[in-house]
Amino acid sequence: MADFSISKRIAILPCGGCRLNCSFDCVKCSLFNNWYHRKCQQISADERKIYNKIELGYVCVSCRTLDGIEFDYLMGMRRLKNAADTKVLAKLKTAVTRETLFKIEFKPVSDKDVVFPPVRVDVITKEVMNKYFDEVIGDPIITTGKGNCLFNAVSLILYGDESKSVQLRYHICLRMVRDSTSYMNHPHRKRIQCLSPSYEATCIDCATIGGFSSA
Ligand SMILES: [Zn+2]
Ligand SMILES: [Zn+2]
Repeated sequence: MADFSISKRIAILPCGGCRLNCSFDCVKCSLFNNWYHRKCQQISADERKIYNKIELGYVCVSCRTLDGIEFDYLMGMRRLKNAADTKVLAKLKTAVTRETLFKIEFKPVSDKDVVFPPVRVDVITKEVMNKYFDEVIGDPIITTGKGNCLFNAVSLILYGDESKSVQLRYHICLRMVRDSTSYMNHPHRKRIQCLSPSYEATCIDCATIGGFSSA
């Protein structure tokens, strides 16, 4: 449990944001143990209470963003991986609950935003498709694999390149874990094919970049 009690702090420390003394209504970043005024981190009193209850503690704005504004997805994935490495779904659920509090929104793109660069056609798959399908619409294109081919492919389709692969993986992992009960009880559950041996294992593997590698 993260320790937010003022009485247990050794001394009055300056807020990592405004540099004034942090003597009241403060939160501690669990990564580097810096203290901040709750308002300097722009979190509500209720959110502070929730962070207080979460075993993993709070993550400050500078630790979870690239420039104080843009969310650092690689760091987000690293936090999820740390929880997933325990192989316990309950631990990953706790990490996902914390990430959800950061309120990072998935930004879909419109067709107008997508500029498709020249793509590499997978000639072998094309040959197979021509052999087994009566009608083949479009060319199969190559994406980078290494356990990320699904997200790279979706990024390529949505954004025209693979640059949003990590972002997609992060948001999909959050959704899979957060709504695991509804997915596991879905009426078409038997027709949903998991990439890993079970739904729980798929969540765990999704939390690790490259986690769906068959190598
Ligand atoms: Zn402050
Ligand atoms: Zn921090």
